[in-house]
Amino acid sequence: MKRIGAHVSAAGGVENAPLNAAAIGATAFAVFTKNQRQWKAKPLTEKSIAAFKANCEAHGFLPEHILPHDSYLINLGHPEAEGLGKSRDAFVDEMARVRQLGLGRLNFHPGSHLKKIDEAGCIKRIAESINLAHKEVEGVCAVIENTAGQGTNMGYCFEHLRDIIDLVEDKSRVGVCLDTCHAFTSGYDLRTAEACDATFARFEALVGFSYLKGMHLNDSKPELGKRVDRHASIGQGHLGLDAFRYIMNDPRFDEIPMVLETPDDSIWKDELVLLRSL
Ligand SMILES: [Zn+2]
Ligand SMILES: [Zn+2]
Repeated sequence: MKRIGAHVSAAGGVENAPLNAAAIGATAFAVFTKNQRQWKAKPLTEKSIAAFKANCEAHGFLPEHILPHDSYLINLGHPEAEGLGKSRDAFVDEMARVRQLGLGRLNFHPGSHLKKIDEAGCIKRIAESINLAHKEVEGVCAVIENTAGQGTNMGYCFEHLRDIIDLVEDKSRVGVCLDTCHAFTSGYDLRTAEACDATFARFEALVGFSYLKGMHLNDSKPELGKRVDRHASIGQGHLGLDAFRYIMNDPRFDEIPMVLETPDDSIWKDELVLLRSL
C-alpha cells in the first residue's frame, strides 16, 4: 500500500510530529529532528523520545514510514576543511538523534561544490562523509535526495546519486529519496505516463528501485529543466496530476514514505485525499 503524508511541524517538541501527521490523515511523515536553520541543538530529552515513540505507536506510524530530514546548513561536499568538518559533525549528530528516536533513515541534500572544487571531487567528499557517519552511528540509512540543481548543488541527475552510492562502503545503509519537483525542474519529465515510464526506467538503470527509500511529492512552480527549486501544491504546478496518478498506481512506490513539501499546509489534508483518489 501507499504511505503518504507531509513534512510536518515539530514545534513544541519532536513528539508533536506524529500528532500533526495523524491530524491530516497521514500514513507517513517527514520531520526535522532539530531546528533546520541552526547548527547546534539541545539534546533530545528522554521524555521527548518516549513521547515520540508512544505517539507513533498510538497512530500506527512504523519507523520505515518516517523520513527525518537534516538541516539545510549541512554541506557534506563542502570544498573547505572548516565547513566540511562542521557539516560532518552536524550530520553525525542528526544521525544519532534519528537513532535515539528509534528511526532508521535520514534524508539529506548531497552537497554543493561552491565553484571551488569540481563535481567529481564534491561527489567523493559526499561519499566520504557518509562513510564517516556510518562509522559513528549504527543502524541509520543515509537517504540522498535528488535536487533541482540550483546554484552549485549536486544531485541534479541520477548519475550523481549512482556515483555517490558507488563510493559508499556499506550499501545496506545508503538509499535515495526522489523529489518530484526537483526531478522535473532538473530536467526529468513526469507529465505523462510515457514520460514517467522513461524517467523511472532511467532511474532503474542508473540507480535502481532497490535504493528508493522515500519520495517527496511536490508539484513544480518552474517549468521543465529550469533548475529552480520552487514547490507547488499538488495539481497546481507544471507537473500536473498525471505524474501523481502514475506514482500512486505503481507498486514500485509501495511501503515507502511519500511526503508532501507543498507550500500551503492548510490544504495538506485535501491534497492527501486527492492523491488517494487518483
Ligand atoms: Zn529536501
Ligand atoms: Zn524534497
